[in-house]
Amino acid sequence: MVSRFASVARPIAMIALLSAATVQASEPEGSAAPVAQAAPAARPWTDSTLPPAARAEMLLAAMTFEEKLSLVYTWFPPLAKDPAAPADLIPSAGHQPAIPRLGIPALRETDASLGVANQVEQRKGDVATALPSGLALAATFDPQIAYESGAMIGGEARAKRFNVMLAGGINLTRDPWGGRNFEYLGEDPLLAGLMAGESIRGIQSNSIVSTIKHFALNAQETGRFVMDARIDEAAFRESDLLAFRIAIEKGRPGSVMCAYNRVGGDYACENDWLLNRVLKGDWGYRGWVMSDWGAVHSTVKAARNGLDQQSGGELDTHPFFRADLRKAIENGELPRARLDDMVRRILFGAFSTGVMDAPVVETPQPIDYARNAEVAQRAAEAGIVLLKNERGVLPLAKSAKRIVLIGGHADVGVLSGGGSSQVRSVGGVPIEIPLKGGAAASFVRTTWHGSSPLAAIRALAPKADVQFVDGSDPAAAAAAARSADVAIVVATQWTTEAEDPEGIALSGDQDALIAAVAAGNPKTAVVLTTGGPVLMPWIDRVPAVVAAWYPGQRGGEAIARVLFGEVNPSGRLPITFPAASSQAPRAAVPGMEQVLADPKRGEDARAIKPFEVQYREGSDVGYRWYARQGHRPLFAFGHGLSYTRFGYSKLRVEGGDSLKVSFDVTNRGKRAGADVPQLYVAPRDGSRPLRLAGFERVTLKPGETRRVTLTAEPRIVADYDVALPGYRVAPGTYRVSIARDAGQPVLTATTELQERRLAP
Ligand code: BGC
Repeated sequence: MVSRFASVARPIAMIALLSAATVQASEPEGSAAPVAQAAPAARPWTDSTLPPAARAEMLLAAMTFEEKLSLVYTWFPPLAKDPAAPADLIPSAGHQPAIPRLGIPALRETDASLGVANQVEQRKGDVATALPSGLALAATFDPQIAYESGAMIGGEARAKRFNVMLAGGINLTRDPWGGRNFEYLGEDPLLAGLMAGESIRGIQSNSIVSTIKHFALNAQETGRFVMDARIDEAAFRESDLLAFRIAIEKGRPGSVMCAYNRVGGDYACENDWLLNRVLKGDWGYRGWVMSDWGAVHSTVKAARNGLDQQSGGELDTHPFFRADLRKAIENGELPRARLDDMVRRILFGAFSTGVMDAPVVETPQPIDYARNAEVAQRAAEAGIVLLKNERGVLPLAKSAKRIVLIGGHADVGVLSGGGSSQVRSVGGVPIEIPLKGGAAASFVRTTWHGSSPLAAIRALAPKADVQFVDGSDPAAAAAAARSADVAIVVATQWTTEAEDPEGIALSGDQDALIAAVAAGNPKTAVVLTTGGPVLMPWIDRVPAVVAAWYPGQRGGEAIARVLFGEVNPSGRLPITFPAASSQAPRAAVPGMEQVLADPKRGEDARAIKPFEVQYREGSDVGYRWYARQGHRPLFAFGHGLSYTRFGYSKLRVEGGDSLKVSFDVTNRGKRAGADVPQLYVAPRDGSRPLRLAGFERVTLKPGETRRVTLTAEPRIVADYDVALPGYRVAPGTYRVSIARDAGQPVLTATTELQERRLAP
C-alpha cells in the first residue's frame, strides 16, 4: 500500500468546490466514443415521497455505462494526481465524483466515529469537536448519548461539506491489547450493536451516510493486510456478526466497509460468504459495500463476491475498479447486471439517508463549537469508570489545601488515540509527536487534546495549592506527594490504528512512578488515560483508580468533575481488565515477532508474511472467556462504582416465548447518580457462560426507587444452529441474573423458555 501522506506530491490545500464540477462527457452503454449526454427533462427520482429503492431504480435506468462506472471508484484526495481525478477534492479520506447531469452530488467522505478527522492536518487549521474514545462512549451504556454524540459529529461533518462519515467502528474486542480497541465499542455484541446503531442513527439524522466497519473480524492491527481470521460459523454468528447485525437493524447505515484482513481464507473485501451470503443475502442489506482503504486485491473476484465500491483507490496496489472493471464487463467476465447492482446499492444508500434530497451546501457552514463541546463533555463524564475507591479517597474535598498532580502531560491536555479517527480538536493540540517508524508512521502523530486537567482542577478548587510534577523522576514525584494532602497520577498508554502495542503494561516507568507516589502518600488516586485495559501491579497500594479512557477534547474538565464529585461516576466497563496477560485468549500478539524482527518495525505493513489467527474463544469473547476459563479478572466487564449505593429488589421473571424481567432499583445513598443494572442469561446446565441480554441506565435521586423492565435480546439467549440455519433458543431452564457486573449477580432466578427460532 502507498503510504498515506508521506508521498503527497503536491501541497494539500482546499481546492475548488462542487460548483467547479464540470458536466462530464459520457457515453451510451457499451460504446467507446464519448458523447455528451443531455440532462433528462424530467427527474422522477427526485420525488421524495417514493420509496428509496424505487427512486434508485429510476435513476439507475437513466444512467450511462460511463456514469455507472464513475460511481464505483472513490479517489483518495491527498494522492489523487491522475488528470482524470475530479477537480473539486477536499483533502480528506475519499471522494466519489458528482454527476450533475442527473443531480447526483459528489460523495465526500470523512473519518470517523470520534468526530470529523483531520489526522495530520491535511486541511490546515480545520478543527472539529473530538468525542471521547469509542470505549468511553460504550462505557456510558447509554444509547441516548451514542445518538446525541453521533448527531453532533454528523452535524459537523455536514457543515464541513462531507456527506459520508466513515464512522460506525464496531469490531468486537477479542484481545485486550488491540491497537484500535479504543475506537470500538468493547467486547459484548449486544452493547456494541446497540451503541453503534444509535451512533449511526444520530449521524444519519443529518441526512448524510454513516458506514459501519470493519466487516469483519478486523480484531488486530498487526498484519491486518494479510492475517487470516479463523472462527467457526456458529461462533461468528453469535459474536461479531451479531454485533453488526444489531447495529445495522437499528442504525440502517447507508454503507458497510469491508475489512483489510482475510476471513476463513478469502479477503473480507472479496469474500462471497461474508458479503453475498450473510450481509446481502441473510440480512437483506440494501446499501453498498465499500472497501477499506487499500483493502482491494482483485477486480472480477471482488466485484463478483460482493464489493460495490473501491475506496480511496490510490491507496491500493492497483485501480481495480476503473479500466479493469470496464474491461471485465465489456468482455463478459462480469455481468452488466452486477455493475447495475453495485450502482443501485450506492444510490439506495444515498436516497435512504437523505443525501440526495438534502445535498450539502457548497460553502462551509457555521458550527456551534461551544454547544458541541458540551456534548463531548457529557459523553466523557458519563463514560468515566470509577474502578476502585477505598477509604473515601474520592471524591476529593474542595477544601484540600495541597494537591499534587503527576504525569501524563496533565498540565496541558489529555491523550488521544492515533489513526484515521484522529480529530484535530477545537481546544488545540498542545503536544504532537511524530512517530519514528512503524506501520502508523505515515499518517499518525501522538497527540494530546488541549484540555488541561491541571487547569480544570484549579478551577474547581480555587483555594488549594495545586502543583504539577511531570513524573519523569519517580523520587521527585514521591517527594511532592509526601508534602501534599492528596496525589493524583495521570497514567497514559498510547495506542493507534495500524499497530498493536506489545502488551497491556503501562509504558515506560509509569508502574514504578505510581508505586513510588503511593508509597509517598496513601491518599493517591490514579487516573488512567488509556486505549483499553492495562495491568496494575500496584493496585493493592493505590486506594482509588479511575478509567478515563481517551476522554476527548473536554477530558480535563470531565476528569476534574468526577474527581471532585461534581459528577457522580456512572461509567461501566465495556471490556474486561484481566489480572494478568496470561488470562486473555492470546497473551502475545500474533504476528508481532515479524514486526519486532524488522528494523523499521513493520513500516511496510504489506511485507508481513501471511498468518492465521484461530479465534479459539469462539463466541465467548471477553467476559465469557474469562468465566469459561474460571479466571478472576482484575475488573469485570460491566464493573463501575459510584459515590452512592444502589440496591436491587423484587425480581419478577417471565419466561415462555420470550424472557422478560422486572425489578426495583433504589438509590440507597445520599447523592443522585446513575446506575446500569445488567441482565445476564445462560442455560441452567452450565453448558455456556452467562451472556449480557439487556441493560438500562437509570438516574435516581437519593432514596428514589424505579421499576425497570428488560426484555432479553432473543438472539443473545439463543445459540446459532448452522443446520437450521438460524438462531435457536433451546427449550429448557435458564439462569437469569440481575447483576452489577459480569461477575457480581445480585438477584438470581431460573425460568423456563420455549423453543424459538430466529432468522440467520
Ligand atoms: C481505516 C478505516 C478508515 C479509512 C479511511 C483505513 O485505514 O482502517 O477505518 O475509514 O482508512 O481513512
